[in-house]
Amino acid sequence: MEVQRYTVCRAEFLLPLSEPDRARRIRDGYVLAEGETIREVGPYTPEVGRGLRDRFGSALHVLGADSSRVDRAAGAEGSIPRLSGVLMPAFVKAHGHDHEQPIIGVAKDEPLTSWLDHAVNLFTRFMSAEYESLRAELGCSPRLAAYRMARLCDIHYGITASMVHHCNHNKYHLEEVARANEAAGTTMIVAVGGQDRHYVEDLLDRPEEALGRLEGALRIGGLERTSFCPGPDQLFSNSREMLVPLKAWAREHDTLFHTHSSEEPKTTRWFREEIEPGMTPVEFAESIGILDEQSVLAHQVHCGPRDVEILARTGTKVVHNPLANTILGSGMPPLMEMLAAGITVAISTDGSGSADNQNILAAARLGAQYQRALHQDATLLPAQQLLEMITVVPASILRLNQGELAPGRQADWVLIDLNRPNMVPTRLDNLTENLIWAADGSEIDTVVARGRVLKEGGRVLAFLDGSTPERIVAAVRKLSERFAVYRASAPELKGTGAHR
Ligand SMILES: [Zn+2]
Repeated sequence: MEVQRYTVCRAEFLLPLSEPDRARRIRDGYVLAEGETIREVGPYTPEVGRGLRDRFGSALHVLGADSSRVDRAAGAEGSIPRLSGVLMPAFVKAHGHDHEQPIIGVAKDEPLTSWLDHAVNLFTRFMSAEYESLRAELGCSPRLAAYRMARLCDIHYGITASMVHHCNHNKYHLEEVARANEAAGTTMIVAVGGQDRHYVEDLLDRPEEALGRLEGALRIGGLERTSFCPGPDQLFSNSREMLVPLKAWAREHDTLFHTHSSEEPKTTRWFREEIEPGMTPVEFAESIGILDEQSVLAHQVHCGPRDVEILARTGTKVVHNPLANTILGSGMPPLMEMLAAGITVAISTDGSGSADNQNILAAARLGAQYQRALHQDATLLPAQQLLEMITVVPASILRLNQGELAPGRQADWVLIDLNRPNMVPTRLDNLTENLIWAADGSEIDTVVARGRVLKEGGRVLAFLDGSTPERIVAAVRKLSERFAVYRASAPELKGTGAHR
């Protein structure tokens, strides 16, 4: 669907998550977009409806006007029909990987670095090794098939913006992930991977090669929704010779700088004992001058008080991924200590290979449940704070003009169905709480990004390149069948981090 000149959406409930009162809950609210930008947000009244009709006439597109979501009981005062459900900002994912959906359920009961070698590195190598025959069978590049599938899953769960850490073999394929994103209509920062030590041999490269990839990315034409930043895979897999010039590139181009840090106990211990003796990954990063407010670390699970102090002092941002951290048995970060120290922390999903989905509401819930159980304190991380940690907070970390519904912000929002049995009864006073504690994440009915409808009536629409959800799913099914065959006979990969 094309972007309409004026789009209005009126719903039973509205959570703008905007200043001056981020906790404000509105009964019967609306949002008006002009093209890709929000113009008005607030309580709906019959006068508002009449005013919109008078000002915009037939140029006004009323979202969902002829759908089953129209709340017939509400009438259509002022002629803008009201949709049942809650309207709120679309979710923002500050850390993920778009190549992992085809490997959900693969190598599940293994720790991080053996899982990387047995699932992620093997899969991304497979797509390169069998590229031509996969392309012939799927009718498109296998990587494009995987990347489109990731876009489909994000939209399914109401995520319209993400930082995609394009690691391992994916680092050579920046144009394809960018094209998948442009076609999907989402917003993406691609953190471009690289490594020069302690990783599977065929992925090691030199700083000039990593810098060359970034320069090459800037020459990709026709991108409106995609940008790039340095994203060395791990601190253990990049020496100072690699990290220092990459951070310099980020400063020169005013971009973020993104990497995995201190994710798993064994590798973090090994880092301090052998890789950079006497230093944690964070102490090492600070010692070479790569931490500042534009540096974003994923995980930071194994994080002592001195690390917390360094991260707070340097303004470094942290992305917490509770689904991946628990499934891989990595541990959980000292989240409450980080927040108390003033560190900005977003909650995210990580890639689907470790998570094993993009259900960001479930990630927020799990993050809170773990901290409450650990500290035996039910007052920690209330629902309002959790919603902000998957909307406004990651948007601020990624420096994106979204994550809240306010005039001038990008028109990215979701409508969430409250009629599902698990969401009944939802009222104004338990609305925010139910989204975190009662939702299962599949209630996302409508998704709008930059004023364009990406999902409506619970169905993701065709992408701008014509690919439909059905074709995307069929291609990934074939891809995963082929990978299962390849995996059964491929020699074991070793060499990543502590998996040696
Ligand atoms: Zn990750």
